[in-house]
Amino acid sequence: MDDLKYGIRDKQGNWAPKEPLEIGPFWDAKWHKMGNFMVEFIWPWNTFHMVLALLYWFFVIPEVETLKTLSWGWGLYLFIANATGIFVLYGGIELFYYVQRKQGRRFKYNAKFPSDHPSSVFWFKSQNFDNFLRSFFFGIPVWTLVEVFMLWCFANGYHVFGWIDWQNNWLWLVVLTLFVPAIHEIHFFCIHWLIHRPFLYKHVHSVHHNSMNPSPWSSLSMHPVEHLLFFGEVIWHLLIPSNPIVMLFNMHVVGYGAVNGHIGFEKLEVTEKTAVNSHAYAHYLHHKYFEVNYGADGLVPLDKWFGLWHDGTKEADERMKARFRLKKQKLNS
Ligand SMILES: [Zn+2]
Ligand SMILES: [Zn+2]
Repeated sequence: MDDLKYGIRDKQGNWAPKEPLEIGPFWDAKWHKMGNFMVEFIWPWNTFHMVLALLYWFFVIPEVETLKTLSWGWGLYLFIANATGIFVLYGGIELFYYVQRKQGRRFKYNAKFPSDHPSSVFWFKSQNFDNFLRSFFFGIPVWTLVEVFMLWCFANGYHVFGWIDWQNNWLWLVVLTLFVPAIHEIHFFCIHWLIHRPFLYKHVHSVHHNSMNPSPWSSLSMHPVEHLLFFGEVIWHLLIPSNPIVMLFNMHVVGYGAVNGHIGFEKLEVTEKTAVNSHAYAHYLHHKYFEVNYGADGLVPLDKWFGLWHDGTKEADERMKARFRLKKQKLNS
């Protein structure tokens, strides 16, 4: 595909989309954009997360009787399932687009590939190796712990509203499912803003920001405290009327969906003419500039409301620089 139809490339070879990032069209009444928005909202990523949640529920998650008792057995089994899933999804994107580089630098925001640039901030000087190990040693274990806790709570009825079934409450559960990406954006914005406060940034979140040019394995490369806050999002499902399948869908939006912000390419070419949109640009700009775009991609535009939104335009760049200057002045005075 010709990526210059969709964006521009600077002298260093970095690519950027021509069109500014947009928040959910319903926030500024751009109703004519709703059709396209809904298609992108459902296909392919959220469909993927939902299909995987159903596959987990029917083929992976043990019987309710088993879930009632905490044990290493099914915990370890779920860990293997999550680790395998992440290895296949993240590893697949890494293999095709970063190792084999099948689309070269087309649609790639940062012209550099992390593996070509060893850095001492990473374990073994390798962003890939460091990020991979942090994901599998800390990220997926914390994910699994939270998942085990949630399933155990559901199975035992440790829930404000109990286990809501689909037969009698399907309409509410469908609505809740559609709202999961919004729950994710709000929760993520809040914890993300919090860990950007100086103390927590220094001791916790800086681990994730070592990857200034993120690639798939950067997605879950975090400090364990951040993992806990990040996967802790699903705890909301103990406080609102919910069902384990919706909780699993939310878990997958968090765990598998973390890759979206860290793909590093605007589009992943699948064939000559078709490509999947990554939705990665907002979070790519966060890794580039740090103090912008704390949320995901503007579904609930908290960044915009708090003056932290960077949509990739020159104007947004100026606003950001003015904000940084003001902050510096305040610190100096
Ligand atoms: Zn990130
Ligand atoms: Zn951050």
